[in-house]
Amino acid sequence: MDDTILRRTWAEIDLDALAHNYHRARALTGPEVRYLGVVKADAYGHGAVQVAACLERLGAEYLAVASLDEAQELRRGGIQAPIMILGHTPPEMTPQLIAHNITQAVSDQAKAEAYSSAASACGGTLKVHIKVDTGMSRLGVQVRDGRFDSGVESIARSCALPGLEAEGIFTHFAVSDEDGGDSEAYTRRQFAVFTRVLEALAAKGRTFALRHCANSGALARYPEMYLDMVRPGIALYGAGADRERLGLRPVMALKSCVYTVKRFGPETDISYGRTFRTGGETRVGVLPIGYADGLFRGLSNRMAVWTAQGPASVLGRICMDMTMVDLTGLPDVCEGDEVEIFGGRQPVDELAAVLGTIPYELTCAVSKRVPRLYIQGGGVVERSLRLLL
Ligand SMILES: *Cc1c(COP(=O)(O)O)cnc(C)c1O
Repeated sequence: MDDTILRRTWAEIDLDALAHNYHRARALTGPEVRYLGVVKADAYGHGAVQVAACLERLGAEYLAVASLDEAQELRRGGIQAPIMILGHTPPEMTPQLIAHNITQAVSDQAKAEAYSSAASACGGTLKVHIKVDTGMSRLGVQVRDGRFDSGVESIARSCALPGLEAEGIFTHFAVSDEDGGDSEAYTRRQFAVFTRVLEALAAKGRTFALRHCANSGALARYPEMYLDMVRPGIALYGAGADRERLGLRPVMALKSCVYTVKRFGPETDISYGRTFRTGGETRVGVLPIGYADGLFRGLSNRMAVWTAQGPASVLGRICMDMTMVDLTGLPDVCEGDEVEIFGGRQPVDELAAVLGTIPYELTCAVSKRVPRLYIQGGGVVERSLRLLL
């Protein structure tokens, strides 16, 4: 890849930070609990194949994605670890699941039956994990509101179907990463429902090798809920509500550079919509990054980027491809200098908070035209440009 491309806007992915975060989790869980790394959505924007390969080297026992396409990307990228699809896969794709040794989450009995018929028809066995809805009210077998017995029964029937191997069972928490007694009580209720389901199934003679429910929030806050495997996503990437509690390091740094420096007099309107007017003589840097790179337009006039000399406030609207910043108090920042949008100096969580959203949304939004640079041992070990050149 041409280095000049990288001098526009790029994302540095620190594989040493990824390893650090992985080891932090393993130190908490101990060696008996398995580790499933959630790498859906291109590993939250970090690059699924690279992150999965790193996790595989580190010893993660499982990976999870949202779709068959994402799972196949990993297999094509040489990933051999077990992969689970958390979301929807049409039952007619069952032969591909089996051929690529991919585990499918199953969220109700009708789907279990469809996967079972498809697996039997192609003469294979599909590994499945049963999803139980204990309070997320999204996917999963319903076991609340008087549906406990019927739910348990339908799980037992699903697991007994031909062509399916029920390797695991899991549930997902709605507020395990939130502070406060109410969230804690809700999470504990979800876990209690899950535990009762497991006990009722055990009483019917149905047990599972992998029972799991701990996302990042539960990894950080509820060690009693680790069961056989933890399932963190955001904690792996060093972001989220529990990053400080867990002693995590940010994996992604979004960076750009100063393309042009200009001086404007007082009363100058900057950018679309004239939402910023200079007070006095102002030294303005133009950065080649905009909302099409993943820098949310909602951050216009509400954030600073980090230069080597300190923070430079965004002036006016963030454009599709460009953003203006105030360099008036930073006379040593010149054309060509690097700036950090988020990363080690400005946690992505802080920008997410300004937007009233979660860091996941910001790392996932780093777009296709932003090259990813993989850093390990202080050097760039891989460059990944996603534009088709
Ligand atoms: C995305 C996802 C996770 C990971 O959640 P984090 O909050 O990023 O830790 C775990 N389990 C399921 C089912 C998910 O969909």
